[in-house]
Amino acid sequence: MVEMRTPIPVAEAVERVMQHVRPVETEEVPLDSAMGRVLAEPIIARHSVPPFDRSPYDGFAIRSMDSEGASGDSRIPFTVIGEIGAGHVGTKTVGQHEAYRIMTGAQIPDGADAVVMFEQTVETGDGFTIRKPFSSGENISRKGEDAAEGDTLIAAGTRIHPGTIALLATFGYAEVKVSRLPVVGVLATGTELLGIDEELQPGKIRNSNGPMAAAQLERIGIKARHYGTSADDLEACTDLVKQALAECDALITTGGVSVGDYDHLPAIYETLGATVLFNKVAMRPGSVTTVAELDGKLLFGLSGNPSACFTGFELFVRPALLSMMGDTAPYMPRFKAKLSEDFKKPNPFTRFIRAVWQMDGDRITAAPAGFNKSNAVSSIARGNCLIVLPSGTRGYVQGDEVDVLLVGSETGAKDWVL
Ligand code: AMP
Ligand code: MG
Repeated sequence: MVEMRTPIPVAEAVERVMQHVRPVETEEVPLDSAMGRVLAEPIIARHSVPPFDRSPYDGFAIRSMDSEGASGDSRIPFTVIGEIGAGHVGTKTVGQHEAYRIMTGAQIPDGADAVVMFEQTVETGDGFTIRKPFSSGENISRKGEDAAEGDTLIAAGTRIHPGTIALLATFGYAEVKVSRLPVVGVLATGTELLGIDEELQPGKIRNSNGPMAAAQLERIGIKARHYGTSADDLEACTDLVKQALAECDALITTGGVSVGDYDHLPAIYETLGATVLFNKVAMRPGSVTTVAELDGKLLFGLSGNPSACFTGFELFVRPALLSMMGDTAPYMPRFKAKLSEDFKKPNPFTRFIRAVWQMDGDRITAAPAGFNKSNAVSSIARGNCLIVLPSGTRGYVQGDEVDVLLVGSETGAKDWVL
């Protein structure tokens, strides 16, 4: 008799996975290896930024009081006493009606409290004239205006992106405390599977899920540990899963989680004594997605159907792994878009449609990315987001507002809200 499984809502499934996340340890890495990692310490301003008053323009540094009363009819002259390029400092104090020629980024010399841009002057033999008064502090980039010394600028638990790298470099974080990368195994199961370099044979297909899952891991900075493919052979597959569990923090398998004669993962979980968190989710594609836990390690049993496999990774694997790394915003960002074509099918389960979002005039639209069955692979390649249609709905038409999950974003959302 076929086993009956009770589907649980997607949000509950996500919640169950997240409750079983065990954080990994932290380590120090050089700044040039920190991209994509999750900060295990906050970024604190070790000094003011900028560290000194500086000129934001190329121009002349003056005393603002000397510019009082300047107008088109009564231009005020200044004498240039020297030049300060970025990286240099002026040695003289600016006196009455004196000015330093100063370049962008250079420190404001003593005495001066305003900068006149080149464009605001008319040059004379030994200096220039101006036609308007300047106030104290005008055109000066103040010490500490960007960040004050001691401020916490970025919280621990933030994923590092190029802007974060710039900030870390600013303060001289040559080494950064981050979470260690979890070791994640990828094993594709299915007797029908061929390697990517193999010729097609009758009844066989190439393993696309393995490379796809590895690429999805790479997108969150994790290099997959490859366990290749396994035929649907209970013993061989059990051995591989055991080996992988001994070597990894988490394991992703694809295929073999359904109720077919050769779907061995349920039996393997049982043999190993793993706790199955769920084995049926009220979603399409990927209702057979299964997640189990053993000794604090998560086993993600993704469907073999490519679209389902892709979606299962983004919904469950990604937030769990990011959360293991301490990421406090591990979910896909969500936004609203207008459906750009009718979608008349009923949605007994929450439906995730591989789609393309884009700006259309002044609004964001989302269009299904073509052939959209769970076994589709072409629409995964075309899509850049997932449209979400809640369960119990039907009859969506062009122009309807729908929820969209952004795939592959470098910053995430704090909550799973749908
Ligand atoms: P399963 O989840 O094992 O029942 O597989 C469902 C469907 O996905 C079948 O049509 C499989 O041939 C296909 N499939 C399973 N594994 C892979 C894979 N690694 N790459 C591409 N297709 C797969
Ligand atoms: Mg199979």
